[in-house]
Amino acid sequence: MVHSNCTKVAEPKSTGVKVVIVGAGFAGLACAIECVRKGHEVLILEKFKDLKSLGEYLFSALIITFGSNVGRIFERWGLHDQIWPICNHLSQLTIHNANGEILTVQHLTQLRYGAHSYSGHRGALHEILFSFAKSLGIEIRLAQDVTEYVESEGEAWVVSNGEKIVADVVVGADGVRSRARNLVLGHDDKPKSSGYAIYRAWFDAFERGVDKDPRTKFMTENGDCFHGWIGPDVHMLTSTARGGRSMSWVITHRDEADIEESWSFPGKIEDVLKVVEGYDPTCAAILSKAPSCVDWKIVYRDPLPTWISKGGRILLIGDAAHPFLPTSAQGASQAIEDGVTLAVALQLAGKDNVRLAIQAWEKIRYQRVRRAQLFGEQVRDMWHKANPEARGEEVEMPSPEWLLGHDSEEHAYEVYESTAQDIKENGYELPELPV
Ligand SMILES: Cc1cc2nc3c(=O)[nH]c(=O)nc-3n(C[C@H](O)[C@H](O)[C@H](O)COP(=O)(O)OP(=O)(O)OC[C@H]3O[C@@H](n4cnc5c(N)ncnc54)[C@H](O)[C@@H]3O)c2cc1C
Repeated sequence: MVHSNCTKVAEPKSTGVKVVIVGAGFAGLACAIECVRKGHEVLILEKFKDLKSLGEYLFSALIITFGSNVGRIFERWGLHDQIWPICNHLSQLTIHNANGEILTVQHLTQLRYGAHSYSGHRGALHEILFSFAKSLGIEIRLAQDVTEYVESEGEAWVVSNGEKIVADVVVGADGVRSRARNLVLGHDDKPKSSGYAIYRAWFDAFERGVDKDPRTKFMTENGDCFHGWIGPDVHMLTSTARGGRSMSWVITHRDEADIEESWSFPGKIEDVLKVVEGYDPTCAAILSKAPSCVDWKIVYRDPLPTWISKGGRILLIGDAAHPFLPTSAQGASQAIEDGVTLAVALQLAGKDNVRLAIQAWEKIRYQRVRRAQLFGEQVRDMWHKANPEARGEEVEMPSPEWLLGHDSEEHAYEVYESTAQDIKENGYELPELPV
């Protein structure tokens, strides 16, 4: 239910709340889009000097999935017709064991809990959101390096390229290597290795002869197609897009490498092939078709005790606040839910109650995000430690309603007033995290 004084799409700049967002990844863009729709004034500051460089940085993880929890947001923004044609259209996921035996054929529905999920090229999807943000008149300043975050009783500001930029709210959406996290919360923690890394590749299936090789042509013959292989501490997923023309694969495996400096490198196909030695030869045939790949170390952090600054006007969203394991397929989706929830909270609270809005926002998001992070660990363990006898649903990718049926915008409208009231009456305390 929408608050009586508010509409879901408000007049531009009608709330008087000014929001500065640092970072134009999925978190920053979605937060900006939803803030504008709720009547706030927005400015994005992004380090990369142009969309191409930003795209190259984002492309390195190649394929990305947005669950129907965010699909419903994209649909509300009117982006379905742009996004759907460039996404994979997969009707089933066939999961094999390391010997190639089929453990399950999981039926995939295009509509789940009333919305689509979208899976496609990360850079292309990011570009659509970037253009949409621009079309709404959002100012995105590129080549900005934000070096300071400061706040007083009545305002917050950042220093970007030496210039002071003042707002009511500052949002740090600056990714897993967040400087905001360090400056705002005083956390100077080195990301921890999760103990896993992913080799990833995306390439033209026809150019690389996938359709000619008798071992791999099944991936190109019947439109888009999706297969997985699971073995001890390894899972490999491969899919085709654009009717079988584009191919991507990801293979997750144990990797304890130190990740202090960097965690995304060019990988070597010969190293990838070592991971599947002794596996169904189809795996090696598919993997070796890629011209190159990325070796992506998966970093992790313990949950932060808060995502909000001491003064209450600066906050972190997306990977800056809570990095995800890829097996949850929810990192970007939860980043987008953060922004949607914040925009509603600020709208309902109004300019004079920005700090209350931010506290209520954190309270609404904190447990849900942790639950979604733990879901990623459960999926990884389900595949990496699968009982050799496991078949059918025991190895299928779960699609829980609490996660994918969620509507973050509706939910924020429903619970904001009671959450804010509770904070006013009982003080601010975050809920216990699920373990
Ligand atoms: C291998 C892999 C696979 C994944 N697969 C999925 C998936 O299928 N589904 C899913 O939902 N999620 C997935 N994720 C997670 C998802 O990619 C991230 O959670 C999401 O992209 C985070 O977005 P973000 O905007 O928070 O951060 P980022 O995308 O890192 O954006 C941060 C932005 O801030 C900018 N910035 C940084 N510092 C500054 C500064 N000082 N001044 C100005 N700008 C700055 C950066 O240039 C960047 O543009 C995956 C992640 C990995 C590693």
